[in-house]
Amino acid sequence: MSDSQEKVVHSDAEWRSMLTHEQYHVLREKGTERPFTGSLTENHETGNYHCAGCGAMLFLSGAKFDSGCGWPSFMIPADSKAVVEHEDKSFGMRRIEVTCARCGGHLGHVFPDGPGPTGLRYCINSASLTFTKADK
Ligand code: FE
Repeated sequence: MSDSQEKVVHSDAEWRSMLTHEQYHVLREKGTERPFTGSLTENHETGNYHCAGCGAMLFLSGAKFDSGCGWPSFMIPADSKAVVEHEDKSFGMRRIEVTCARCGGHLGHVFPDGPGPTGLRYCINSASLTFTKADK
């Protein structure tokens, strides 16, 4: 895999052809999957979570926890440079949006109510992630 700092850029038409409808809606239109519907919310396998848009490694299974919120939740990204955090004032709320540093895809939001030493909960859509199971 190439350097995580190398940006991945595609036209809107290219993204539409590369992604499923749901992936496109979340990653490129900042959509949110309905809670408890994502395929990775209850995933407890050991492995790595990658961006569904560009393949960048974003989260490790060791940082995942059961938040009960209905979306995959992580205490910390795999690398601080893998994601970018932005203030999001949409829907009358003040939240911190999390995007993929490499392709700019929307991943979810980060909230200051996590259980671990970081105190953070990265609340991430399953549709924005692909999971790679670790080799035994
Ligand atoms: Fe990405």
